[in-house]
Amino acid sequence: MVNPLYDRLFGCHADRQTPFLHLPCGRTLTHDSFLRLSARFAHALRALGLVPGDRLAVQVEKSTEALALFAACAQAGVIFLPLNTAYTAAEVSYFLENSGARLFVCDGAHAGTLSAVAHKAGSHLVTLNVDGTGSFAAVACDMPDDFDTEPRRAEDLAAFLYTSGTTGRSKGAMLTQANLVSNAEVLTEYWRFTEDDILLHALPIFHTHGLFVATNVTLLAGGAMILLPKFDLDQVIAALPRATSMMGVPTFYTRLLDDPRFTRDLVGHFRLFVSGSAPLLPDTHRDFEARTGHRILERYGMTETNMNTSNPFDGERIAGTVGLPLPGVELKITDPETGAPLPQGEIGMIEVRGPNVFRGYWQMPEKTREELRENGFFITGDLGLIAANGYVQIVGRAKDLIISGGYNIYPREIELALDDQPGIRESAVIGVPHPDFGEGVVAVLVPEAGACPDPQALATALRERLAGFKLPRRFEFVAELPRNTMGKVQKTVLRDSYADSFT
Ligand code: ATP
Ligand code: MG
Repeated sequence: MVNPLYDRLFGCHADRQTPFLHLPCGRTLTHDSFLRLSARFAHALRALGLVPGDRLAVQVEKSTEALALFAACAQAGVIFLPLNTAYTAAEVSYFLENSGARLFVCDGAHAGTLSAVAHKAGSHLVTLNVDGTGSFAAVACDMPDDFDTEPRRAEDLAAFLYTSGTTGRSKGAMLTQANLVSNAEVLTEYWRFTEDDILLHALPIFHTHGLFVATNVTLLAGGAMILLPKFDLDQVIAALPRATSMMGVPTFYTRLLDDPRFTRDLVGHFRLFVSGSAPLLPDTHRDFEARTGHRILERYGMTETNMNTSNPFDGERIAGTVGLPLPGVELKITDPETGAPLPQGEIGMIEVRGPNVFRGYWQMPEKTREELRENGFFITGDLGLIAANGYVQIVGRAKDLIISGGYNIYPREIELALDDQPGIRESAVIGVPHPDFGEGVVAVLVPEAGACPDPQALATALRERLAGFKLPRRFEFVAELPRNTMGKVQKTVLRDSYADSFT
């Protein structure tokens, strides 16, 4: 193969007059038209001076053109670096300088504020607007619609994807062609995607979930996507009858369940609902099944590795677990201090190895050495266990572990107990400085609409389930938990807000 990523995902669809993208305006773009657009973009990248191995940073709204930039990079051998559209100029400045991106494509609406940071980082700025216009589009418009695919090896870098920054500053994960292709192949097969699939795509495409899971799997299977700009409840409910499958973060599912229009009839024809990026509450899993008859398939992955584990398509999908290691992925639980493997059933650090595991963090050799072992195992930073049936359970992030009075406390265990209490919609448990215990446990709670839970009653109820040292010493009530664009609870924000609880 000349270029494994391009050939496998895109090139194989040359001349196919089959639907690829169903757009909100009602238009449908065929595979063939999409490839012609991306070939013009590949020429434009060349015309703007990019050579294989250069980085292209992209901060544009979700659109056909944004996806075509990914295809163009693959075809021209350029490293694709998509950025969260919520990032401010100061944040973009870090990514441009850190990545050394030679070209930066942004929305014309932000070009004014971003031109100074691009200039400072030595990146050339061009624009691409959500309607397909802009200075980049102008360069591309007269270009030929076929492009000689740049030869690439499987181990060449295909993308730098920055992590979500949930636990600290985002890190640029270097992903190879083989990383992306191998995972897309495994997932397509594991989840039984075919060219008959129409995936409802409401996720962002600057993150691994929407880009490398949803999009790559659909491309590999040869199916189509209903490309929505974002998760808008009305749009999603209107599109569900035309889709066969959907991938989402847990908040997609809770929001659907909150809406009476989301009925069994609406999704009776559906083939598959997948959830990931953050823990799906067992309650949501059960409520979803009760409402629709479908069991959500939960999987576990991250920017650095794509997907590692998944509940099975045919076998039992177990709520509160992330399923089994995917074919080709080795997963073990180790002692976080020593790295020694732990016996089955014990909680420890999740480590993974396989063709999906990234090459390291861009320009962070120390961080790479700390997290990526020489033997190929990646230390994920997530704590978990493997149950007797082989299913993996995530207990939480190592950085969220609370150490109080010398005891390890796993917030998730307390959160699950709290979520079961009447009047509690959801919870986040954090540790903050405590003069006697090192850290003290604080429970931040979102009550159900109209409910007014009594902290005393909560404490009494928890005492029946949990050892005394695990009990929250403070209960705080909030209208909603702080979440980032991927629906992840931002515990660092909570720890800052309640830092003075015990001092
Ligand atoms: P950063 O690494 O910058 O702190 P991040 O880890 O949130 O940010 P991502 O790579 O987007 O960045 O997220 C991967 C993480 O998301 C995993 O390490 C895990 O903690 C969490 N995650 C993903 N899927 C699940 C799941 N099904 N259940 C629980 N947690 C999940
Ligand atoms: Mg991470």
